[in-house]
Amino acid sequence: MFWQKEIETLSRDKLSALQLERLGRTLARVYERVPFYRKAMDGNGFRPEDLRGLKDITALPFTTREDLRAGYPDGLLAVERTEAVRLHTSSGTTGKPKAIFFSRRDLDQAAELLARCLVMTGTGPGDVLQNMMTYGLFTGALMMHYAAEKVGILVIPSGPGNTERQLDLMRDFGTTVLHITPSYLLYLADYLARAGLDPARDLKLKRAYVGAEPYSEETRRKIESLYGIDIYNSYGLSEMNGPGVAFECAGKQGMHLWEDNFLMEVVDPETGRPRAEGEAGELILTTLNREAMPIIRYRTRDITSVISEPCACGRTHRRITRIAGRADDMFIVRGVNIFPQQVERVLMAVSGVAQNYQIILDSYDQMTVRVEIQREVFDGHVEHLIRLKNLIIDRLRSEIVVRPEVELVEPGSLPTFEGKGKRVIDRRTM
Ligand code: AMP
Ligand code: ZN
Repeated sequence: MFWQKEIETLSRDKLSALQLERLGRTLARVYERVPFYRKAMDGNGFRPEDLRGLKDITALPFTTREDLRAGYPDGLLAVERTEAVRLHTSSGTTGKPKAIFFSRRDLDQAAELLARCLVMTGTGPGDVLQNMMTYGLFTGALMMHYAAEKVGILVIPSGPGNTERQLDLMRDFGTTVLHITPSYLLYLADYLARAGLDPARDLKLKRAYVGAEPYSEETRRKIESLYGIDIYNSYGLSEMNGPGVAFECAGKQGMHLWEDNFLMEVVDPETGRPRAEGEAGELILTTLNREAMPIIRYRTRDITSVISEPCACGRTHRRITRIAGRADDMFIVRGVNIFPQQVERVLMAVSGVAQNYQIILDSYDQMTVRVEIQREVFDGHVEHLIRLKNLIIDRLRSEIVVRPEVELVEPGSLPTFEGKGKRVIDRRTM
């Protein structure tokens, strides 16, 4: 099923031509209206009319988070402030937030993109979507909310938290679709188990859209089997509208990135140089269809690679692989680069492991992984626990090279998350 079949299946040639035309318009617009970009182009001796092909974009500098922060509150606006109708911010961990403005047209367009995602994964009128992302300054919930309404889906704007009430809503209104972070979905699975509920028997869930933070394929499989539903990976960031930038189709082999709205590049996160086709690196995005706040060559810090092979679903927009991690989340132990997700991947594939874990960094030589164990296992034989612990250590060592300390802990003993999780506790001083 398609929401906008023509544009979703546009030939590659036509799609590239459309991208070039939109890129040209975007560059002309920001050159004229945004001093930050005019300066950047002048500094590189580039004028919008010099644009001949999509590759020419590499002549322009990147836009970084720091640039957005420095422009706070409205430095990068390309319209009068009176033409903007919505503001979102993305806080990050330090410093000033990034403010993102949307015009009426931008919001319509953002909803169109997410509507494509909903319909692509089989959601439509008759479905009931419980929107368990945070409403407010964060883009996640509101963008999905309006897209689902546009498609004609009943939306329950529950937001995250208050798990007992969430369950009541699911049961009373027959929720079929969830929009949720992986951290909260894992927590919810645990909660259901403790309440003696079986999702397949007691709920009407069919699928969940899961994103807003990295998670592994192993976690997807684990959640799919715990709930007996389909999990679709949903990628986006506030700077680029929020959710709906890239989304999995029914094939679940990578996420289609809507190339009529975003131009993607993949570069070496250290040097900024382009990666060869298909190689992993940092995703760089340029908005091609935004009015209020176009952003050129944004460094997402997210690590992925492009899949150029055609997809069985017929959509021509290329896919990106599951985000391997954020360049900023990577940590180093004994000189080895490690992404939290590598640890997660190993843990979620071990039977006996429950849903929650934590990584503690006390020194540059040692990391400790605390992992919750299923109740039966935790209360069982000590020898079994020792075997399990050694198994986890071995598997982690072969994945991340470093041999971690592993502590098996009681289910429910680690902090839980209703939004994005915080799993790495770094106690090292620089
Ligand atoms: P925010 O600034 O709060 O909109 O968060 C956006 C960031 O969340 C992205 O840059 C990614 O790092 C992360 N993110 C969002 N969706 C996913 C996903 N499906 N997989 C991995 N990371 C994601
Ligand atoms: Zn597809």
